[in-house]
Amino acid sequence: MRTVKAYAAPSATEPLVPTTIERRDLGPTDVLIEIHYAGICHSDIHTVRGDWGPITYPQVVGHEIVGVVAEVGPEVTRHAVGDRVGVGCMVNSCRECENCRAGLEQYCLQGNTQTYASVDRDGTITQGGYSTHVVVVEDFVLRVPEAIPFDKAAPLLCAGVTTYSPLAHWGAGPGKKVAVVGMGGLGHMAVKLAHAMGAEVTVLSRTLSKKADGLELGADHYYATEDPATFAELANSFDLIVNTVSAVVDLGAYLSLLRLDGTLVNVGAPGEPLPVQVFTLFGNRRSFAGSSIGSIAETQEMLDFCAEHGIAPETELIGADAINEAYERVLRSDVRYRFVIDVATIA
Ligand SMILES: [Zn+2]
Ligand SMILES: [Zn+2]
Repeated sequence: MRTVKAYAAPSATEPLVPTTIERRDLGPTDVLIEIHYAGICHSDIHTVRGDWGPITYPQVVGHEIVGVVAEVGPEVTRHAVGDRVGVGCMVNSCRECENCRAGLEQYCLQGNTQTYASVDRDGTITQGGYSTHVVVVEDFVLRVPEAIPFDKAAPLLCAGVTTYSPLAHWGAGPGKKVAVVGMGGLGHMAVKLAHAMGAEVTVLSRTLSKKADGLELGADHYYATEDPATFAELANSFDLIVNTVSAVVDLGAYLSLLRLDGTLVNVGAPGEPLPVQVFTLFGNRRSFAGSSIGSIAETQEMLDFCAEHGIAPETELIGADAINEAYERVLRSDVRYRFVIDVATIA
């Protein structure tokens, strides 16, 4: 075991504080990563505050991790000391179920091992990236191309792949009209990625307050959903709608915007059920779907795509002592568009 510095939540109601945690000794296929940057995802806040159910404290969160390989186990072949690497939302899976064998570890039928607040293979609770080091089995460690600025690479590991996967799966590309609902951490990445894939991109945001940003990031059109005229004007027009909003929305209103065989896919996760009027699905043979992060292979594909197309998230770099303030700003949607922690400030 090695003791490393970290920022942890002591309880659901207290601010995060500096502390130390234990990382396991390297197994044969483990990689020790010296973490350089960690993104702040809305899921981190939901988790530490117990919004998604009780957890064990103290808990270190963070699943948008980039760093440099510091040490490798004797059987590691995929990574070497000094490599730029990343870790996203999962650190292991059963590797035996139908979905794992298909290379879709995010849909592991035993449940994948999440990067934090998850029971690890050794029975301990996983601890995330607001920490100076992490030990991860090599198959769940990604290569971060040199072309992506290191601090900006971190949010790609969750926000990037969570939006890349549905865009790729449902064929966003030339000739396709794609709408992105919400212009936050996930939404702004969806805009950049869909644009780079060649789709015609429309942002549907509550107001027009981020319109200039949206157009600059690659959107072709930008509409306010608080204006009812938007829904009349855009009826039957999109092949794919990616909904990044975690609040309850009027699903029927958005489904009515889909053209023939169009799909509305949710990556936002509202805590309450969304009612669906099935007749809305009959029209235009529409589909309502969900999507969860992406596989390890797809995460690598996304990183390579971003390097090739010069895509990186818009970020605000902060020191560890600003994490608690950043949480409040995320909750107020007062961030353009992702906070990244400079992990050197934890040490
Ligand atoms: Zn996340
Ligand atoms: Zn599995």
